[in-house]
Amino acid sequence: MNLKDFVTIVPNYPKEGISFKDISTIMDNGKAYKFATDEIVKFANQVGTDIIVGPEARGFIIGCPVAYALEVGFAAVRKPGKLPRETIDVEYDLEYGKDTLSIHKDAIKPGQRVLIVDDLLATGGTVGATIELVEKLGGIVAGCAFLIELTYLDGRDKIKGYDMQALITY
Ligand code: 5GP
Repeated sequence: MNLKDFVTIVPNYPKEGISFKDISTIMDNGKAYKFATDEIVKFANQVGTDIIVGPEARGFIIGCPVAYALEVGFAAVRKPGKLPRETIDVEYDLEYGKDTLSIHKDAIKPGQRVLIVDDLLATGGTVGATIELVEKLGGIVAGCAFLIELTYLDGRDKIKGYDMQALITY
């Protein structure tokens, strides 16, 4: 299956000049969604995975079915103030300004092998902050998996030295 055929390019969203890669047309097709999930499951098994970590919100959509298939847990990375219990937080740079991501302090046990899953790798800010959160909790980043990599934004530089998988590249 050519998964790229199921991505919808939305010009000038969310801002003028940005070509948004809409993955909802992968998700609403059962066969494409299953294919994408199965490919990440294969990678997860190759690298060895005890738990999946996904940043909100599309990281949940991609990560949860992988966790289900592997019979491992899923830990959510969220914007500050969204998780009800004690968290650790990491600040990271955006194109203009800064943002913060949080995870529950007890979400990962030291030594657990973590697969980070998200829909898309752009500048690598989100995955970089997620790696920092996982490592602060003593987790081992087994790998990072994405449906899409925007190679022209060099996000891969932020995950040098980590195993990574991208099912579709632009
Ligand atoms: P980064 O932090 O690597 O610059 O951006 C990646 C994050 O932004 C991901 O969590 C992803 O959901 C979101 N994102 C940025 N651009 C796009 C896009 O074109 N399509 C989708 N689906 N997500 C995007």
